[in-house]
This record gives sequence, C-alpha cells and structure tokens, in this order.
Amino acid sequence: MKKILSQTMSIALLAASPLALTACGQSNAQEADRFAKVEIKTEQLADGVAVLFGAGGNIGVSYGPDGTVLIDDQFAPLTPKIQAAIAALGAEPVKYLINTHWHGDHSGGNENFGKTGALIMAHDHVRERMMGTQKSGKGNDPASPTEALPVVTYHDGLKLHLNGDEVQVKHMKHAHTDGDSIIFWKKANVIHMGDTFFNKVTLPFIDIESGGNVAGILAAAETVLTMVDDETKIIPGHGPMANKADLIAYRDMLKSVIGTVETARTESKTLAQIQAMKPAARWDTNKDAFIKGDAFVEAVYKSFENPAHKEHDHKH
Ligand SMILES: [Zn+2]
Ligand SMILES: [Zn+2]
Repeated sequence: MKKILSQTMSIALLAASPLALTACGQSNAQEADRFAKVEIKTEQLADGVAVLFGAGGNIGVSYGPDGTVLIDDQFAPLTPKIQAAIAALGAEPVKYLINTHWHGDHSGGNENFGKTGALIMAHDHVRERMMGTQKSGKGNDPASPTEALPVVTYHDGLKLHLNGDEVQVKHMKHAHTDGDSIIFWKKANVIHMGDTFFNKVTLPFIDIESGGNVAGILAAAETVLTMVDDETKIIPGHGPMANKADLIAYRDMLKSVIGTVETARTESKTLAQIQAMKPAARWDTNKDAFIKGDAFVEAVYKSFENPAHKEHDHKH
C-alpha cells in the first residue's frame, strides 16, 4: 500500500485512497498544495439532502429548519471549502456531525467542526480508536484532540428526527472496520453506506487491523438490500452515486470471491496459490485502484483467520 501511495499522489488517487493522509507521509506544504486544487462538487439528491464529492470519503448533508447534519467531513484542510458548499445549498452551519467510521479521510475535519460547535456522533469504537485506547490494531497515534472526538456514541445505532425526516443510523458489525455505521433517510429514500461500499473505483478495502472482516461487508450489503428499493439513492464511501442494481452487483462480487477463497482454503491452498487463481479478476479492472485483486483476496483470506472478535461484541 505504501508503495502505491508513494508512486503517484494524484488527486484522483487521493480521492480513492482511504488512508491517503495517514499513510503517505508527505510534507505539509505538498499536502496543502494538493488540497488547494480540490474542488467540492455538490449533487442534490432530494429535498434537503445532498452529497458532496471532494477528496476522501463522500459527504452526506441533511438540511432544513431543524439544522444541518453532516455525514463525514473528509480532510481538515478542506473544511472551509466544505463549509462554503454547505452555505451554497442555503443550509445553516453544521449542527450535527456523524462519522461513518474512524478513518482520517472521513473524520479529518472533526476538530474544525467540533470547534464550531457541531455535536459529533459515531459508534463507540470510533471514539476508542480516535482516542488511541482500543485494545488492538490500528487507531490514532497520537490521540485525536478532544474537539475531534464523538460526544454521543452508540453501540447499535440511533435515530434523528428532524427536517421532516427520520434519519436512521445503524451500526454494521465488523465490516470495513469494527465501528461502521450506515445512515438512512427514510422519507428522502437516501442511504449513506460509508466504506462498507466502494462503488466501481476500487475493490473493497477491508481494514483487518481495525476489526474489519469481509463477512461483515457482505452482511452490510445484504442488510441494506432489505432496506432499499429501485428508487433509493445510495451514497458509497467512495465512487459515484449508486442504485440498488449497483449494490446487487457488489454483493454478487463479494459472494463470488468469498466462495472461491473459502473453497480453496478447504483444499488447503496457500494465500499465494489462491491469489494466482485470480478470483477477483473480473472486477479488478481499474489499474489505478487503491485495492487491486491480490490485496482484496488477501483481506478475504485473512477474514477467515479472524472469524470473530467476540470480546468486542460482548463488551458493551
Ligand atoms: Zn474511506
Ligand atoms: Zn475507511
């Protein structure tokens, strides 16, 4: 991963790179220059609901008389541009901020928004990882400043009743990380899947060290498929807007690759032998993808080695 990142840190790659900020180790000047070129693009999805594309995870916005809710906030240097895009919608400054998970391309702006008074909400494990107090695997080191931390945390989820809609926040267990949430606007029929769904730009990135598991990614896709219809607008963590058919294709890809890896494992094939079978080749079509076929197959293979994280599941 480091090799890929050091080769070409183009904006396009940055947009598709979940760990770009934490993994690249570039100088502040280079970083500032890169973010200076980023343009925040807005797409209206429904009355009072929009998506913002920039560099990092896609941002959901809910706005109206009860205040503005932001889903994820990309990287800290982009905060002024994100605030300008929100103002251009005719929305108030951010009152509530929900993080789909802890990665810096989704929570990098937390400190800025926290300082302006936004109430930050996320799954329990997001706060733990941002504080650097999780028992194992990756997290923020050093810990995030207090203003960046989620103030309201939950285990299973919560609902916001505002702007004439019911906004459902649901935790998806051990998927992309161990702290993923999906956010569903019931009336507007829009759902933000965070990084449990990468639409077209790359094969899935499963952060095994943060408690991720391909079984949870598949379970999240299956859960969302029971919640949506053909009209639902699906915001992926990365990539363009999606619909139910796109999510079905993604679910089928997951099942195919998981099935091949599982069978090969029962035949005692090694990871290298399974990678040589190229079980993800059909979907490994973007040569600039952040996660290529071999890396995805490795994550699927390792998911079988870490089938459960029981101490986490039962801790709360
Ligand atoms: Zn991401
Ligand atoms: Zn992520």
